[in-house]
Amino acid sequence: MEHFEAIVIGGGSAGLAAAVALGRSRRTVLVIDEGNPRNAKASHAHNILGQEGTNPMDLLERGRDEARHYGARIIEGKVDTLTGSLDTGFTVTMTERSYSAERIVLATGLIDNLPEIPGLAQAWGKSAIHCAYCHGWEVRNQELLVLGIGAMSSHQAMMFNQLSSKITFINHNSSALAEENRATLEALGIPVLEQSVIAVEFDDQGTLASVLLANNQRLNAETLVVATHMQAQAALYESLGGSLAENPLGTYISVNEMGATEVAGIYAAGNVCNLGAMVMAAAASGTIAGAAINADLISSQLATS
Ligand SMILES: Cc1cc2nc3c(=O)[nH]c(=O)nc-3n(C[C@H](O)[C@H](O)[C@H](O)COP(=O)(O)OP(=O)(O)OC[C@H]3O[C@@H](n4cnc5c(N)ncnc54)[C@H](O)[C@@H]3O)c2cc1C
Repeated sequence: MEHFEAIVIGGGSAGLAAAVALGRSRRTVLVIDEGNPRNAKASHAHNILGQEGTNPMDLLERGRDEARHYGARIIEGKVDTLTGSLDTGFTVTMTERSYSAERIVLATGLIDNLPEIPGLAQAWGKSAIHCAYCHGWEVRNQELLVLGIGAMSSHQAMMFNQLSSKITFINHNSSALAEENRATLEALGIPVLEQSVIAVEFDDQGTLASVLLANNQRLNAETLVVATHMQAQAALYESLGGSLAENPLGTYISVNEMGATEVAGIYAAGNVCNLGAMVMAAAASGTIAGAAINADLISSQLATS
């Protein structure tokens, strides 16, 4: 079985940044990536200092080149199982292939679970958006509809209200709007429509055209703001006995400031451990985890020499 000092599972911004830090520290590193980063549907990535507005897949292609430049090996595919411990070493298995490593970086990202409304998945990442910092500037001054489904929805309305005054909150899941949040929306002058959305509709070109409400009313819409329930892709971590934490955004792996998890030898970076991390924050946490593993390996190699 081929051996590496570190294996990075997931090759998005977080995983590739970890691989660069490890490669530059002359560590043998393997990145295994299924190739489905969370922002794949977006055409441009924003708030990326020095690379503003770049295509997300182009950004990762450059990251792969940089990691390879420092000796990282990158293979495509899904890691199915992760076994072992700090004492025995870890084994990572894909279909018919296994690799061993002394340390692991989990950079597997998260799943955005959307509310089940016909058409919504088709609009996701294009005209159905979640993040004022990722897409807000691009929809400034547009007619915005905020889908009220949970605790984050009124927060989103507040953020997007900074970008457009033409904003309506549709109280889709009426029990989710707390009284204090309703008061905030009122104070900001954001109208609240007490209806649920039964479909998201498109024109002939596939562009978002309207949302259909339960009372059969149609609201023209250019952009729909929707919160997702975020679920860390953490099955591998749980299989080692790791437990997940939860906050109003969803579930995630807890880490310390260096990216170490509660399972010795396993580090995490990016959205899998920080649901709110945008690209630069994800990459920064990958760099930190890579650096922490290098220091950790120096210490353990000293201890055994
Ligand atoms: C629609 C949308 C638009 C966005 N726009 C922006 C923006 O403009 N600016 C910004 O800063 N942020 C943006 N974001 C946030 C951005 O997507 C995340 O910050 C970033 O993707 C997090 O990087 P990551 O490496 O943690 O996870 P990801 O980029 O999701 O990468 C995780 C990788 O791990 C792989 N993987 C998962 N499980 C396995 C496994 N078992 N084996 C092998 N590989 C696996 C996945 O396939 C994926 O390639 C946006 C998010 C969305 C949803």
